[in-house]
Amino acid sequence: MSESQKPLAERQAEMDAIAEQVSVCTRCPLHVGRTRAVPGAGPTDSAIMFIGEGPGFHEDRQGLPFVGQSGKYLEELLAMIGMDRTQVFIGNVVKCRPPENRDPMPKEIETCTTLYLFRQIELIGPKVIVTLGRHSMGLFLPGAKITQVHGQPRWKDNRAILPLFHPAAVLRNPDLRATMAADFKKIPEIVAEYDRRFKGKPSDDTPPAPKDPPKQLNLF
Ligand code: URA
Repeated sequence: MSESQKPLAERQAEMDAIAEQVSVCTRCPLHVGRTRAVPGAGPTDSAIMFIGEGPGFHEDRQGLPFVGQSGKYLEELLAMIGMDRTQVFIGNVVKCRPPENRDPMPKEIETCTTLYLFRQIELIGPKVIVTLGRHSMGLFLPGAKITQVHGQPRWKDNRAILPLFHPAAVLRNPDLRATMAADFKKIPEIVAEYDRRFKGKPSDDTPPAPKDPPKQLNLF
């Protein structure tokens, strides 16, 4: 039985235990400068999981993900598809704020995801993982370029990965707003596609997903 098929109370207890471990974690240098670690927030049985990069100033203060400007924008995008943040799980690649908001280092990413994020994904068993920005995308689609693949879902391990621009990048470059909105609006249809593929059952009950249709080869 996969983790996400266990009774919800058991999964919740495990998620709480992970949050507890995150809050006192000293396994990488990022813990030194943090005010509070940010384990992530949202229902343990969320169909949709958003994964950002790492906490910023406000997240570090509050211990909650996406509570600053990027978070406000993420809430606007969710409202656009008739949802709010209480209905989705929102987490990050690394759980502690990198100094001066620098990029997380490969070793920090590896340590934090192995210890925490990948266990959270197993427990939640989301239908769709929405990656926000290139560090998050890189966990699932290594080598992909965000400018080329944003808004195109890929099916992996019987779930969809939807790579999106990071909200902060869109706030910095308003030309990306319309693209971001169009990409975001695909989420409900991807959830519906999951339900068609798997009849709403947890993925372990089902045969492997049909492969993505082969790409048209351009021979000339
Ligand atoms: N940016 C992120 O990537 N994550 C947060 O939680 C906030 C801002």
